Parts: sequence; C-alpha cells; structure tokens
Amino acid sequence: MNLQFDTSLIQYYKNSSQIARILTEHWVGKNIFCPSCGSILSDYENNKPVADFYCSTCKEDYELKSKKDSMGKKL
Ligand SMILES: [Zn+2]
Repeated sequence: MNLQFDTSLIQYYKNSSQIARILTEHWVGKNIFCPSCGSILSDYENNKPVADFYCSTCKEDYELKSKKDSMGKKL
C-alpha cells in the first residue's frame, strides 16, 4: 500500500484543511480496499450523508473518518 500523498494535487490549494481533505480523499480513492472481499472501494458523490465509499462487489458502505487524527486507526 502506498502511503505517500500525491503532493502535485495541492499546488492550487492554499487552505490547509482543504488540502488535507483533498489528499485524504484522493488517497482513499486510489488505495482503499474492501475489508470483506478485497475489491477496490468506489467513492460516493458528496451528497450521500451516510457513507463516503462503497464496495461494488459486496455492496458494503464505508465512512471515511478523515477529520482529525483518526484516519490511521480507522484504516
Ligand atoms: Zn466488498
């Protein structure tokens, strides 16, 4: 698993919290796998209130806790 963020994504963003969110979502979108079946998770559109990502194989929903320092523990 690649734990390095793609810093080229943030060159147009100044706000630090925005940068953190973008990096986190980008990283998850590329690297998170379903704990149940191992498929790559797909990200919901931002209008989904209950979940951030879902597994298209087993239809499981996953919520990304990226707000503070819980990301490592969650994953
Ligand atoms: Zn799955």
